[in-house]
Amino acid sequence: MELAENLNKIQVLISAACERSRREPGSVTLLAVTKKQPPERIREAAELGLSLFGENRVQEAKLKIGMCPNRLRWHLIGHLQSNKCRDAVHFFGMIQSVDSLGLAQELNKCCEKSGKRMPILLEVNVAGEASKFGYKPEAVLRDLKALNEFKKLEIHGLMTIAPWTLEPEKVRPVFRRLRELKVQCEQELGVPLPHLSMGMSGDFEVAIEEGATIIRLGTALFGDR
Ligand SMILES: *Cc1c(COP(=O)(O)O)cnc(C)c1O
Repeated sequence: MELAENLNKIQVLISAACERSRREPGSVTLLAVTKKQPPERIREAAELGLSLFGENRVQEAKLKIGMCPNRLRWHLIGHLQSNKCRDAVHFFGMIQSVDSLGLAQELNKCCEKSGKRMPILLEVNVAGEASKFGYKPEAVLRDLKALNEFKKLEIHGLMTIAPWTLEPEKVRPVFRRLRELKVQCEQELGVPLPHLSMGMSGDFEVAIEEGATIIRLGTALFGDR
């Protein structure tokens, strides 16, 4: 089966990258990105032992999550509009794409209403690409204390999407910058932040070498969308 083969190959590459960087293989979690994949494919992936899944659109996730096994955990990895916060809080166990105080405020409000706490990652547009969402690195530090004041939100770390490239080495500085920024955030808050969500199908090995704890893979796992 193709999915099983892909997963095996990925796991070998994850282990090798961990070994190169002297990290425990268990310190990297594979998040399966299921945008545009039907529930059938998601169930197949779940049967292979995957349990963490990511969608980038609330509307699409809402239609699919109910058709997938209950035990799966879902993270929102795409841009969130304030008017979709209520659904996002209902369907997701983590929001990886928090990119403004206004959004955090709205999320916090929805969490209060539903009596939930929400782990979040702050999305950072490290390379400053106009086409991408996310905080500028300086802005994360500017907003950090205010973000940390929201009672129902728990800051668990940072997330980034590196620029598209055929040569993953070229985006190593992006991943390194995110790791350094996490250290600055930890100093500012005085607590450790467990997660760096970085690395996709084309660049996850380099991301692991630079400290990724969550890698988000779509095409490497499921093939072309
Ligand atoms: C689509 C997507 C991914 C996965 O991309 P692949 O290159 O298919 O692995 C990861 N992160 C985000 C935020 C995405 O939207």
